Amino acid sequence: MTDNPTLVQADSPEARRYNRIKRWLGIADFAVAFLFLVVLLVTGWSGWLRDLAYRMGSGNYSLSVFMYLLLLLVISKALSIGLDYYGFRLERQYKLSTQRFRAWAWDEVKGFLVGLVLGSVVVELLYFTIRQWPQDWWVLAWLLFMVLFIVLAQLAPVVLFPIFYKFEPLENEDLRRRLVMLSQRAGTRVRGIYRWRLSEKSKKANAALTGLGATRRIILADTLLDNYTPEEIEAVLAHELGHHVHRHILKSILVQAVITFVGFWAANWTLHYAVDRQLFEFVQISDFANLPLLALVSIVLSFLLMPALNAYSRFNERQADRYAFESITSVEPFISSMNKLAEQNLAERAPSRWVEWFFHSHPSISRRLAAAEAWGRTQGATPHLN
Ligand SMILES: [Zn+2]
Repeated sequence: MTDNPTLVQADSPEARRYNRIKRWLGIADFAVAFLFLVVLLVTGWSGWLRDLAYRMGSGNYSLSVFMYLLLLLVISKALSIGLDYYGFRLERQYKLSTQRFRAWAWDEVKGFLVGLVLGSVVVELLYFTIRQWPQDWWVLAWLLFMVLFIVLAQLAPVVLFPIFYKFEPLENEDLRRRLVMLSQRAGTRVRGIYRWRLSEKSKKANAALTGLGATRRIILADTLLDNYTPEEIEAVLAHELGHHVHRHILKSILVQAVITFVGFWAANWTLHYAVDRQLFEFVQISDFANLPLLALVSIVLSFLLMPALNAYSRFNERQADRYAFESITSVEPFISSMNKLAEQNLAERAPSRWVEWFFHSHPSISRRLAAAEAWGRTQGATPHLN
């Protein structure tokens, strides 16, 4: 148990340094992608790549679109692999990763292929609609994109995640019983709890609610299951159940729908603007050499919206935490699980205000602990289990 939960521990220099480097890595990654796209457009290299793709695709439009995407993805991977490798070394250096180089490299290959498959589906659909309906393509493309998004959200736990991790139904009877009780109290049901074999790659602990409909499930990392008390795991489960009860996945999809609608509108506007002004030598909007321009619209929009989306996510997390406080008998295990998580994941308990505002999808540990303690106080007795 924690010695004194009311005292927020200061972050170690190690945790601060690790998180600072990770943030800079993320920013560098974004900067590389942004500059790559700008350079492609400004230098006219995108047109050169398009001509090459046409030769590789023997003049067939769809095949050439695929070839162009393949070239783009290969070059951008070559540009970012150094940063990726640095990220891998960083996790090893801070003893957070248990992965060997070969396993990491294999994950990179798999990640690239998954990106290529998903990317091709999206890009082919995009240019198919652009070619058929040059004026109104974006509405249909948005609809198709949302369908794809929902299908993927449903398939992710059974198709995508298993490419990288192993999952098995949780055998622990005691925990299953606790979840059933929690669910009954909530008047809802989650299809299952799965043991997520995270320990093969990482020392960090994690848990999540994933999937849609029949694939809706809570996944709990083995690094958590094996090191936390049943009461602490129950607190984590209660938090994930909170996401389920408050329909956070559905709400996030709706938010996503609104954002991508605006995004597709902006993409269409930008493409027509570029063609009208003959920017970057684009003559028609179905010229797929304009893909970097579409990608730019998308990453700039995501960058600008990041603080808003993170604020929304933090709101959801606070809701899930509150749900957890209400459904467990004492907040003490919640507090101790948070402290354990912070230590295990080398998290910053109290990041600076602007870092939290811009980068964090979860409220800082110190805020979550303060909320738990405040809740504990309103419940009267100071919760102290020994
Ligand atoms: Zn959560």
